[in-house]
Amino acid sequence: MKYFIQIYGCQMNYSDAERVAAILEKSGSEKTSKESEADLVVFVACAVRESAVARLYGNGKKFKRYRLDNPNFKAILTGCVVKKDQEKLGKIFDVIIDIKHINELPAKLGLEAKETEKEFDYFQIKPEHESPFTAYVPIMTGCNNFCSYCIVPYTRGREYSRPTQEVLNEITELVRQGYKEIILLGQNVNSYRPDEATDFPALLERINGIEGDFWIRFLTSHPKDMSEKLIKTVSESPKGTNHIHLALQSGNNDILKKMNRKYTKEHFLMLAETIRENIPDVMLTTDIIVGFPGETEEQFQETAELMRMAKFDIAYINKYSPRAGTASFEMLDDVSWEEKKRREDTLNAVLRETALENNQRYIGRTVEVLIEREDKKNYFGKTKSFKDIKIKKNETDKSTVGAFAKVKVTKVTPWALEGVIMDDD
Ligand code: SF4
Repeated sequence: MKYFIQIYGCQMNYSDAERVAAILEKSGSEKTSKESEADLVVFVACAVRESAVARLYGNGKKFKRYRLDNPNFKAILTGCVVKKDQEKLGKIFDVIIDIKHINELPAKLGLEAKETEKEFDYFQIKPEHESPFTAYVPIMTGCNNFCSYCIVPYTRGREYSRPTQEVLNEITELVRQGYKEIILLGQNVNSYRPDEATDFPALLERINGIEGDFWIRFLTSHPKDMSEKLIKTVSESPKGTNHIHLALQSGNNDILKKMNRKYTKEHFLMLAETIRENIPDVMLTTDIIVGFPGETEEQFQETAELMRMAKFDIAYINKYSPRAGTASFEMLDDVSWEEKKRREDTLNAVLRETALENNQRYIGRTVEVLIEREDKKNYFGKTKSFKDIKIKKNETDKSTVGAFAKVKVTKVTPWALEGVIMDDD
């Protein structure tokens, strides 16, 4: 059997896909990079937006064609999908399986005897990592926050934190294999709490204690749970990278309340300032929704103003779109698409300015970089603070993809740095 995996969504889905691949490999299937050649097409999908469900449903005709050509063909759906949508999608997918029960997939396909039915055992599957130097490690899944626009608590269920020792064992093994960048994942890593005695800062401290030369990143953080203790732990952590993703969503307190975010803009600004004071050269990134139901021009301007003050490096700006099954679906979506687009463009212009201003500080400085790929003339990588960097090759350097290098920054744009390799001595 040949399998092909199609991934939509966030890093959590990419991480889940690595476990799906491991399960299929274990049952004797072989990966193909061509969907049309596959006997098994697995969608690890994000149905967080209504439009994503329509896009998934749009595969129906193609699957029919594949079934005619190949009687063994099966389409499988997993990832972030709500029960209600599963009924409709069940018409085009042969198997829809909760990611938490992915262990049962081979049995459902008649490939191998059922292994186990225990929920969350999928965390114990040893993933087939896509990269030989960067690895996603989920530390928790699910969400208890119920932001009014978000379907995730309904697709992923309530929060579950992996036992600390299980996480530490996985990372120790990755570092032993030579992995250089460990990205801890969770819908809200700040609420990691597998037991009374352990919280996220405690986990970070223990990961820092693992011997080896590697970086630790984590995604994503909810402002209401971002503690001073965590900021201090990151600032003191030798392997911690200076990148914090803190989702703002709106800079107006009434909209934040309607979004059920449980913090104020004043609290967010205090956090942004504390982070900048304590973590030198921090890269601060965020998510913002424009055109939430009832958002007035003045309320929108408060978001723009907060963005100028927080000086983000990257902001993922989304135009609000209602999602059936969420609380905000019942609110009147009264900001036109054109107006949402205008607000998005306005915020992107603010971002361009703050990102460039932040990057200009790097000119002339030497930074540590993890090289991720190369072409004939350049290497491409990430700095410790998660900035993209292009590095001119020279004839004498001995750098390699997947290794750290010291790079002097020579040029910047709002979205990336450029530089040259420095000799070790
Ligand atoms: S914190 Fe809010 S936006 Fe994030 S996953 Fe949970 S409900 Fe969704």
